[in-house]
Amino acid sequence: MKHLLATPALILLNVAAPAPAEDKASEEFKTAPTGAIVLFDGKDLSSWIGRKGNAAAWKVTDGYVECIPGKGDIVTKEKFGPDFQLHVEFWVPLVPNAKGQARGNSGVFLQGRYEIQILDSYMNDTYANGSCGALYGIIAPNKNVSRPPEQWQSYDITFHSPRLDGQGRVTQKGQVTVVHNGVTVIDKGEFAKMTEDLPGEKMGEPGPIRLQDHGNKVRFRNIWLKPLKQ
Ligand code: MG
Repeated sequence: MKHLLATPALILLNVAAPAPAEDKASEEFKTAPTGAIVLFDGKDLSSWIGRKGNAAAWKVTDGYVECIPGKGDIVTKEKFGPDFQLHVEFWVPLVPNAKGQARGNSGVFLQGRYEIQILDSYMNDTYANGSCGALYGIIAPNKNVSRPPEQWQSYDITFHSPRLDGQGRVTQKGQVTVVHNGVTVIDKGEFAKMTEDLPGEKMGEPGPIRLQDHGNKVRFRNIWLKPLKQ
């Protein structure tokens, strides 16, 4: 009798159950759409060089590339802009003895100048505009959706470069939207400066995608970029 009573309740629970996690994940970890440029497909770093012009020296294995601390940032050979959509998947290691900015730090630099921060922000406090999902030093994410370390996460970034006149003055601010793990954490955020002072860099000009070596073995996979019409 007890068993028979329990059966209808179980059926109701099944109907109301959310989609399995892997269904959501396959939506989030999407493959490059038509018109996109694949920057890393898990096989090699043929689209990349070291930031200082050396060979890209990070480790490619099992469908991902892992930062080798000390080898420096890597950048795409190709330059992009002024408007594009970028998809990046990343994985931060557990760095149990480190805190704040030392814990799982890397970053995705748009045009080599504007860093979308990567950090282990799962139960790891730091200043807001330095946390995972921030336009580093400029715009804080409006919420923290970081997963625990050692899980794949995703960024879908829509970028519009600042526009400048012939004298180098910003005539139209840049704009960035950051979707982290499927959640919008920066919504059309405006900016008019670079993440850091980068001598020789000119805002408004095309630039590469740069992945940061910040001393942690952060991994990346499935990186693609789709230019947008101006
Ligand atoms: Mg960083």
